[in-house]
Amino acid sequence: MFSSPVEEIKSRLDIVEVVGSYVKLQKAGANFRAVCPFHTEKQPSFFVSPARQSWHCFGGCGEGGDMFKFVMKIEGVEFGDALRALAQKAGVELKKQDPESAVWRTERNRLYEICELACRFFEKQLTESAIGKEAQKYLTERGISQESLKKWRVGYAPDVWQGLSDFLTSCGYKKDEIQKAGLGLTSEKGSFFDRFRGRIIFPVFDLNSQVIGFGGRVFKSDDPAKYVNTPSTLLYDKSRVLYGLDKAKIEIRKKDACILVEGYVDAIMCSQAGFENVAAVSGTALTPFQLRILKRYSNNLLTAFDMDLAGGSATKRGIEMARAQGFNIKVAVMPQGKDPADIVAEDSRQWEKIVAEAKSILQFFFETALARFDAKTPEGKREISRELLPAIKRIPNKIERFHWVQELARKLGVTEQVVEEEMAQTKIEPQPYYFLEEPHPQSPAKRTRKDILGERIVSLVLKDKQTLELLNENHYNYLEARLRAVLDDLKNNQPHAHAEFVNYLALQAEMEEGLDCRQEIQTCLKELENLEIKKKLDDISRKLKAAEYEKDAGRVDVLIKEFHQLSNKLII
Ligand SMILES: [Zn+2]
Repeated sequence: MFSSPVEEIKSRLDIVEVVGSYVKLQKAGANFRAVCPFHTEKQPSFFVSPARQSWHCFGGCGEGGDMFKFVMKIEGVEFGDALRALAQKAGVELKKQDPESAVWRTERNRLYEICELACRFFEKQLTESAIGKEAQKYLTERGISQESLKKWRVGYAPDVWQGLSDFLTSCGYKKDEIQKAGLGLTSEKGSFFDRFRGRIIFPVFDLNSQVIGFGGRVFKSDDPAKYVNTPSTLLYDKSRVLYGLDKAKIEIRKKDACILVEGYVDAIMCSQAGFENVAAVSGTALTPFQLRILKRYSNNLLTAFDMDLAGGSATKRGIEMARAQGFNIKVAVMPQGKDPADIVAEDSRQWEKIVAEAKSILQFFFETALARFDAKTPEGKREISRELLPAIKRIPNKIERFHWVQELARKLGVTEQVVEEEMAQTKIEPQPYYFLEEPHPQSPAKRTRKDILGERIVSLVLKDKQTLELLNENHYNYLEARLRAVLDDLKNNQPHAHAEFVNYLALQAEMEEGLDCRQEIQTCLKELENLEIKKKLDDISRKLKAAEYEKDAGRVDVLIKEFHQLSNKLII
């Protein structure tokens, strides 16, 4: 018998499998290695030891631990949630009397339960209610198979005010919790009602295939909104989720490519047609978070959505971010006005052909620019070069870059030198802070404990602004100048000049739930003060050695006294 569920889970799961479902692992002798998912690096210094069932990063961040610690860190969750996720994976049932159960039943966990129950409720409506059956018929006519409906757990939300919420309250959940799960709303008059009504429901899953949110497509209701989605909740944030990635991740790794589509139905249909390495961005342009997650599985992206390439468009920004992150991007060119779901439904071989003939992103930029402007007129040449030069300039590989310089010169009928000169003057926007190869001006390896504590404090203050009062002038002086500047702007209610840096800091504490910011800041401040004292103590002991060497008894006495006084100030 196992002494605890933790032990039982560890005995059933292999750390290589757990970590490997998030990170691309390579065999390295008896161990496995990877690029660390917790800090930015080029050389893989993240190791997983099957023998010890542990992981460790020997690079900048120095993190390490067991499979629970890994899941907590990579999912940004508490221990209880990691326990729950791994228990599910291992098929271990958690009982209420388990010592860990106190932390297990977190608020997050209640929301997971609500989402799962809601999903079952919607599924049942699709197969059993009269109008649900109509919705099912509509979906099958669009080409979605019964198997796919089951696999993706598609459902139907009845067109009534309190269908789901009545069901959930009868299961023992409070209205307040239903609202927190994004499934209910309170009207101004105080009445409570379902968010999803008269809609076909596509549940959204996290990487462990747990339901975290929903997308609802209007069906036979006169609601003008075609889609309604779960708002941001404790579990769901649309900028961090890729629809279908839980089902696609293994295929993406195997094929070393991810097909990105726009809609739920696109993802379902592609997967059904055998292109299982597919995920949908659903309603957002590619975000830094999504790219960070995708990076774990592959560097190759194939986009199959409407490419709005107008300057400054979100799609274009997303693509540029991905390129800057070292992704290879190909574009599937679809017939005008059609989406992947239509094409697959018509003839999946046509889709196969489109995927096979996908163009490189530069090739695609060239074709669209040359189609929009006339390469024979001076104005046309100017516009074409304006559009293409930044894209060419961003190519890191010189040979590849020169290939496109030649190509552009040829198309515009000018010399390569002219293109090079114009390119030298082309400004390219810097990438957001968290996208640079090194998120810090100093490499993480060089960051001292003091730097780390300073950042931690500011990130906590950003999470709970009230805590600013905990910092006195001394504390301020311990912080780096740029951290002080962030606090000053916060104090004066002013936007900070480097919004990206602030975001980067804010994110760190944001990821942690149930954090007592006050207490945490006090702990950090204490350590920071101790560091300062220790620095002074070191200084005194150096002087002391010198005084002893010089046999200066008087000075030795003074220094010993100073040392004692100061060491009494150390806070334990
Ligand atoms: Zn690391």
